[in-house]
Amino acid sequence: FLINKEALSVNKAVIQGQDAKHICKVLRLKPQDAVSMTDGHGTDFTGCIDKVSPECVEISILTEKKSLTESNLDLTLCSAMLKHNKMDETIKQITQLGVTRWIPFYCKRSVPLSGTQKGKKQIERWQTIARESLKQCRRSCLVEIMPPMDFQQVLAFSKGCTHKLAFWEASDRSLAVTVPGENNKAVVLIGPEGGFEEEEIRCAVESGFMSYSLGPRILRAETAAVCACGLIQYLLGD
Ligand code: SAM
Repeated sequence: FLINKEALSVNKAVIQGQDAKHICKVLRLKPQDAVSMTDGHGTDFTGCIDKVSPECVEISILTEKKSLTESNLDLTLCSAMLKHNKMDETIKQITQLGVTRWIPFYCKRSVPLSGTQKGKKQIERWQTIARESLKQCRRSCLVEIMPPMDFQQVLAFSKGCTHKLAFWEASDRSLAVTVPGENNKAVVLIGPEGGFEEEEIRCAVESGFMSYSLGPRILRAETAAVCACGLIQYLLGD
């Protein structure tokens, strides 16, 4: 279970809301049963249930340790806004692939236009999906979901990253040439359904990005994002 800082006090944790209901009604856990928890920031806990009701579960914390499931790679996926709810699946998959943060962005060929999104509500929905995915894959760090940016803000964000990779179907550079360095911090750009404009790739290259190919076949944007993150985690992460 994912617990927030406020729910933690010395050797005690409290779980409320949907998770408490789930523990009580679905899992039917009882006092003395064991539970595993994470704070979503890299620390895992084990505990033993003291009291359980559908509204509130009180737990005594038994152990606390740094997560073993997190990668040493700081990996940011910047993917162009896609139509409908296509981003939902991306969030589930990049959580499983150990991505650190996700930045949706608007570029010239993005179909959803800047300002037409549901704003705060949409980010909350994405955060809920990220929390559920974290539990499923036993990660200990929540994917940080940043508010949508424009392309120039994404390029500014990438300052300080050691590996800057822009995936472009017209590139002939293979990812196999990518080698890990010290303190790896990678940022990945994936375009929208209509692809990047050449001008955008030129700006990215001016900001220190290199363009890479994912092979001769054109992948859907959501497939390209997952494929790129998986390959980069394999090459640069652990
Ligand atoms: N509209 C483009 C076309 O038909 O040529 C395809 C865009 S593709 C659906 C969406 C995004 O996925 C691209 O902007 C790129 O970032 C990534 N992508 C898809 N296939 C790729 C490949 N073979 N190599 C590198 N990037 C790829």
